[in-house]
Amino acid sequence: MDTFRALVVDKEGDGTKVGIQEWTADKLMEGEVTIRVEYSSINYKDGLATRINGGVARTYPLILGIDMAGEVVDSSDPRHKPGEKVIAHGYDIGVAHHGGLAEMARVPGQWVVPLPAGMTTRQAMALGTAGFTAGMSVQALQNMGLQKEDGPVLVTGASGGVGSTSIAILAAWGYEVAASTGSADAHDFLRSLGASEIVDRAETTAESNRPLERARWAAGVETVGGASFAYLLRTLKPGGSIAISGNAGGIAVSTTVLPFILRGVNVLGIDSAGFALDKRIATWSRLAGDLQPPKLEESITREISLEEAPEALEAILKGRIQGRTLVRL
Ligand code: NDP
Repeated sequence: MDTFRALVVDKEGDGTKVGIQEWTADKLMEGEVTIRVEYSSINYKDGLATRINGGVARTYPLILGIDMAGEVVDSSDPRHKPGEKVIAHGYDIGVAHHGGLAEMARVPGQWVVPLPAGMTTRQAMALGTAGFTAGMSVQALQNMGLQKEDGPVLVTGASGGVGSTSIAILAAWGYEVAASTGSADAHDFLRSLGASEIVDRAETTAESNRPLERARWAAGVETVGGASFAYLLRTLKPGGSIAISGNAGGIAVSTTVLPFILRGVNVLGIDSAGFALDKRIATWSRLAGDLQPPKLEESITREISLEEAPEALEAILKGRIQGRTLVRL
């Protein structure tokens, strides 16, 4: 494939412009593995990468897309052979290195994960970075010893990619799951994933002067940040843990030391982009096995073409996307 289509963000005046361009392979960045991309997906971070002040894109022009799954077409890395199906996400992909919203990508070999046995590239991108982050979050809570009997787990930003996949995984494991959402039209969707209780986002983002409130949640999967994170800290049960990954609701947190020194609360930082390759391969293997949410392909709320991606990137920033949106290349 000499030329290929790519969704590119570039600087224009004081802002950015986003559009599909015809590129040639020689414009791709350094890397040992060239991939014919079959599927990518839409993540909140991709939306931020289109914004001049989004804090994500670090080079221009940049092919967008923090996710990709496809087939190796060329490789000088002995770990990967042409014809092999692979996944790549995280590190600098879609940030400072051309990403997966393109028919072709080239990345360093140490960023490439072999597609786990039994998983298709479509299923991999039904999960994508959001699903991988959900898997990392549940795994982190289980590593802290979370048991079903400990009580309900609160998932914030519930209707989003990380939130909805976390609910599906937790419910499949038999945990009692509460979903915090600001989307009134998402309640049926969240219950269908396995949430047994819906909590209004207004409650979980309310400011409070009280350092501690009734201990209610055994654990939290926190994708919103800001006031939501402060809420979880003051309502977590003694010894409980919060896996925090997101900032859709802000980055500043106002809290006290009391949840930590009076209730032994633990905060588990989730960084999917920097996660080491060996752990990344192990987590993908679990996502193809015991961490895989049931009815994975049915969880895809939308499958779109590259032409439809710009509109989806706008929508995700406005909180108008439910679940996972797959991009077919
Ligand atoms: P989505 O946009 O799909 O989900 C975010 C959800 O948060 C929305 O669906 C909405 O849920 C809620 N939300 C949106 N805006 C606000 C707001 N202003 N205040 C409170 N809640 C809001 O994004 P993703 O699931 O892809 O990502 C979620 C977060 O996790 C993002 O901040 C993203 O950057 C981060 N992330 C971090 C990763 C890491 O490695 N640390 C990896 C992947 C994502 P509802 O309507 O149900 O309330």
